[in-house]
Amino acid sequence: MIARGELGAWLAELAGQGLYRQRRVLESPQGALVVVEGRPLVNFCSNDYLGLASHPEVVEALRAGAARYGVGAGAAHLVCGHGRAHQALEEELAEFTGRERALLFSSGYLANLGVVSALAGRRDTIFADRLNHASLLDGARLAGARLERYPHADLDALDSALARCPTRGRLIVSDGVFSMDGDVAPARELAVLARRYDAWLMIDDAHGLGVLGTEGGGSLAALGLDQDDVPVLIGTLGKAFGTAGAFVAGKAKLIDYLLQRTRTYLYTTAPPPALAEATRAALRLARKDAWRRQHLARLITRFRAGATMLGLPLGASTTPIQPLIVGDNRAAVRLSQALWSAGFLVAAIRPPTVPAGTARLRIALSAAHTDDQVDRLLEALASALAEVLGKAGQRPEEAEP
Ligand SMILES: *Cc1c(COP(=O)(O)O)cnc(C)c1O
Repeated sequence: MIARGELGAWLAELAGQGLYRQRRVLESPQGALVVVEGRPLVNFCSNDYLGLASHPEVVEALRAGAARYGVGAGAAHLVCGHGRAHQALEEELAEFTGRERALLFSSGYLANLGVVSALAGRRDTIFADRLNHASLLDGARLAGARLERYPHADLDALDSALARCPTRGRLIVSDGVFSMDGDVAPARELAVLARRYDAWLMIDDAHGLGVLGTEGGGSLAALGLDQDDVPVLIGTLGKAFGTAGAFVAGKAKLIDYLLQRTRTYLYTTAPPPALAEATRAALRLARKDAWRRQHLARLITRFRAGATMLGLPLGASTTPIQPLIVGDNRAAVRLSQALWSAGFLVAAIRPPTVPAGTARLRIALSAAHTDDQVDRLLEALASALAEVLGKAGQRPEEAEP
């Protein structure tokens, strides 16, 4: 435990390592153009991939939902908080993902914590990709299961870990699109291994749903994997759908089991029904507006082509998440600051969100961006890199915003 007198020293040390974190106060709606503390910026770090977070139809659905149902759900789903809007959204999400049923959660973090720990316990083993989202790791910790973290997307390593696994209960968990790298999980191969070793397979498609596949059905839809291949699908609603919350989808018996057992579902107030109405509107738009995905795909190609021409160090991602890995924490922060000065909002992502030595700018593209904004970001990135990496290592005290 940290001593009461040591908080100041702890915070100062964090700052010295370039790991101090600060929030910035947004004064505008979420979008491609935002106002942060009075400053207009082009925003390249939100997960609002389709530009739906402040879409007028979504806003109106929230307003109409509040007028009809009020604000608070008043209780947990199983007491008296489960409303018509929640029920309709669950049915629509099940249909959308090609699963029998879906179950809503207040957030993706809670869904992962709850579902992993409802499926696995002390006598089981959880196999987790090393780059999985923190919430999946925390779910495994809460489950108290044996944890095997396999090297990123390394199917051979996973295969041998499964082969020597001493427990009968096995759960393989992976991001569908990796949140900080943007690459797509080898879900088809994971499904083969899960079958071979009689393991559960759970894919968290927080960054694939809405973005990949026809109608935005996600990374599994794009690969043609159904509920027999991937029995547990997690989706979040705060990213491409632009609202908030999450869901798990799968066969009816699985969802019924989770409804009985998942503590982060049972012991928390249901999200506002009006929010479910807003998400229903967002889901309709996400499915219908194929142009959003098409424009986004063009922007990704444009960004990658431009970055390659400029010699920028890009990863292998073909999704809207385009990390520029810098390595050094302070350099990443200085780059983010240089971009801020040039009128761009791009967050520096540092450990423990990413492994030590892989601090990065996580550039996130959105259907709300224009070609011109992407071109200007590329120019700004090139000059920020020249400026910052040219004098990396100097005066670390300047690193903090
Ligand atoms: C964002 C994210 C979550 C958490 O979802 P929230 O709804 O924001 O709590 C879970 N998994 C992955 C892969 C994510 O990127």
